[in-house]
Amino acid sequence: MRVGHGWDIHRLASGRQFKLGGVLIDWDKGPLGHSDGDALLHALCDALLGACALGDIGLHFSDSDPKWKDCDSGRFVTAAVEMASGRGFRPVNADVTIILEAPKLAPYREAITENIASLLGLPKERVNVKAKTAEGFGPEGAGDAVSCHAVVLMEEQGR
Ligand code: MG
Repeated sequence: MRVGHGWDIHRLASGRQFKLGGVLIDWDKGPLGHSDGDALLHALCDALLGACALGDIGLHFSDSDPKWKDCDSGRFVTAAVEMASGRGFRPVNADVTIILEAPKLAPYREAITENIASLLGLPKERVNVKAKTAEGFGPEGAGDAVSCHAVVLMEEQGR
């Protein structure tokens, strides 16, 4: 077994599309970023890479590479799963936490869970999505940023 952790934060700005876990969030702000700025999928990607000692998202998908401009971050997760498979590992479960002051994410939780499960090739019962506010503290609390943590467990294939 291997465990990996990922964290990411993106500044929120007016007029940007807001995607979290590959799901479009209806809000008047969205994350600034070279790709689609999906902080949850970036954290998940780093957790997958971390579990397999494959570095981090910036190493494989540079934010100065025009290839990844406005890219769907699901591609990073899919590629990380493939890289992990190349090392002989597959996901067992994922637990993620979103820190966002607004909007409330309860209406999106099921769709985010299903999308992450699909990207990881897991049944949705093995994916947990948590969302919380920052109680008004810091950039997340001010509504200026979204941050995400992700933990994944990986197992050696063929066991
Ligand atoms: Mg990011």
